[in-house]
Amino acid sequence: MVDAQAVRAWIESKGIKGCGLCGSAELQVSKDLYALVCINRTTGGPDLKRGSRVARIRCGHCGHVMLFHARQMGLE
Ligand SMILES: [Zn+2]
Repeated sequence: MVDAQAVRAWIESKGIKGCGLCGSAELQVSKDLYALVCINRTTGGPDLKRGSRVARIRCGHCGHVMLFHARQMGLE
């Protein structure tokens, strides 16, 4: 489970004040991490051995989704 307060503190420490598109402060932090998976160049299918865990933050106003690398944020 993702610590929403820790995520908010991290993004604020990077100078992110709101949505990157509309500027709204209605940012909703997902409780789960997500997988950003590479596509295998040969098969065209997902390569589950390569990818990144990401935290998902969705703007409650315009729906823009922002992804942040979980390890860089200290979440894994
Ligand atoms: Zn927005």
